Amino acid sequence: LSCPDKSCQSDGEKKGQTASRVLFKRVILLYRPDYILLFGAFVFLSLAVLCEMFIPFYTGQVIDILRSQYQWNDFLTAILFMGLFSLGSSISAGCRGGLFMCAINSFTCRVRVKLFRSLVSQEIGFYETTKTGELTSRLSTDTNLMARAVALNVNVLLRTFIKTLGMLSLMLSLSWKLTLLMLMETPLTGLLQNIYDTFYQKLSKEVQDSIAQANDAAEEAVSGIRTVRGFKTEKSESCRYDACLMGTHNLKTRRDTVRAVYLLVRRITELGMKVAMLYYGRLIIQSGQMSTGNLVSFILYQSDLADNIRTLIYIFGDMLNSVSAAGKVFEYLDRKPEVCTEGTLQPDSLKGHVLFQNLTFSYPTRRDQKVLKDFCLELKPGQMTALVGASGGGKTTCVSLLERFYQAQEGEILLDGQPLQNYQHKYLHRKIAMVGQEPVLFSGSVKDNIAYGLGECSLQKVGVAARKANAHGFISQLEKQYDTDVGERGGLLSGGQKQRIAIARALIREPQVLILDEVTSCLDTESEQMGVKNDGGCTGKARGCSGGGNENDPPNEQERELRSRLTSPSHF
Ligand code: ADP
Ligand code: MG
Repeated sequence: LSCPDKSCQSDGEKKGQTASRVLFKRVILLYRPDYILLFGAFVFLSLAVLCEMFIPFYTGQVIDILRSQYQWNDFLTAILFMGLFSLGSSISAGCRGGLFMCAINSFTCRVRVKLFRSLVSQEIGFYETTKTGELTSRLSTDTNLMARAVALNVNVLLRTFIKTLGMLSLMLSLSWKLTLLMLMETPLTGLLQNIYDTFYQKLSKEVQDSIAQANDAAEEAVSGIRTVRGFKTEKSESCRYDACLMGTHNLKTRRDTVRAVYLLVRRITELGMKVAMLYYGRLIIQSGQMSTGNLVSFILYQSDLADNIRTLIYIFGDMLNSVSAAGKVFEYLDRKPEVCTEGTLQPDSLKGHVLFQNLTFSYPTRRDQKVLKDFCLELKPGQMTALVGASGGGKTTCVSLLERFYQAQEGEILLDGQPLQNYQHKYLHRKIAMVGQEPVLFSGSVKDNIAYGLGECSLQKVGVAARKANAHGFISQLEKQYDTDVGERGGLLSGGQKQRIAIARALIREPQVLILDEVTSCLDTESEQMGVKNDGGCTGKARGCSGGGNENDPPNEQERELRSRLTSPSHF
């Protein structure tokens, strides 16, 4: 819109139209498994339209019969036909609606699964730059809108199109003069629609973005409810959500006002047209070129046609929404993760020798702040190495890079001499296990959480891992032991219990490299009974453990404890 050059504007418009067409085609192709359902729906749609079209015609016939010296049989036949067409139209419309809904539901499920798969395979940086509300909005609202783009909107478009054609031919056969008069309104309708489309499309996009923003605010407050309660910020969080909703409300009001004004103008033009037609129709009847019944049929068709156009306009707005929603869904469906996960290497044996070679790294959200600069580190197999440093020094960053959550801008990490990206993604995450600073559990049982990602896993194996992580004791005291539900995000357990389950979850994989990122931070309060103590001297620690030990760094009490508990064959 800001482009002053007209040719440039039309280029932009053309590109927009082509993009919309491409999106539409893609949505239609995605519907492929439901083509049979859609075909059935289209058959019923045509039947319903055909039946509907004859109802006004027979209404006119009945009026003409009633106005003449009518035969009872003629009247009955006309009424019977009207009844049959009405029944046929209702049954077909019901079947059409049912089949379309089935197709929409199956499409939505399929696209949601695809989209979810694509989302969960994105690199971690993607989640830092994309808000959760935006993602949930794509998954829920946009997939639905996208499904409607084809099934519902095309349904209505087709129905309107077939019906309009049929009605126009019937109207022409009733009176071509009245039909021409009615068609004179069309250019005005087209112009109005064009202006309306431009405004509506722009406002629709703004409304969608604003809804995503409000979802974000709610999601953030609900997921951090403990912090909100702890800092007594309920009111300010409510105000924030309220402000977002007000923004959405204002945008929606503007959008709906545009629609209302448009419909008002259309209605006025239609009413004017109706008056003109009644006036002209009276003259035609007086000249004997048309019966009263035919004029009634014509007027009924005309208002039906106007209804059709109104529906078309509504659907057009909806279709614009759907296309922009489809665009957003495809954007995420097509997105390739920036951190490559296509390595294939999966050697039978792995020593666990890790080398950070001249790494330079900055986070995607803060490209100008280098967290690691020309960083080198060697982690030898069979040794426990601790990274000690100030908070914010970059310990967790090292862990994240070793886990391939991010890709360093310069340098690389070698595992047994091979760059990390050469290893198969799944293999790598089995061989390198991590217990994070803030362990995250999923709703489900304790057993499910320990065996997370392993599929079928025996209770005995889970028990062994839990014992190694010193979690068996408290799990045995839980109401249903290993079957106890941990609640959403593990909310029914204490921080220390969550961390011990997270340690068991890492140990059950028997990893070659085990990373513990400040893993004792939550164990502090419970450490006395367990003998796991956090050394007060340093502000933060990320460590890898092994059964071996580092000669240069004599183990303190905590490390001895960890070593005795973590008895996997080779860690760092
Ligand atoms: P440590 O674990 O040693 O306390 P981190 O590795 O977490 O420190 O953080 C190192 C630096 O990187 C800090 O300045 C921190 O603010 C920044 N940082 C950490 N995580 C992110 C992130 N996801 N996006 C942007 N900056 C980050
Ligand atoms: Mg950290």
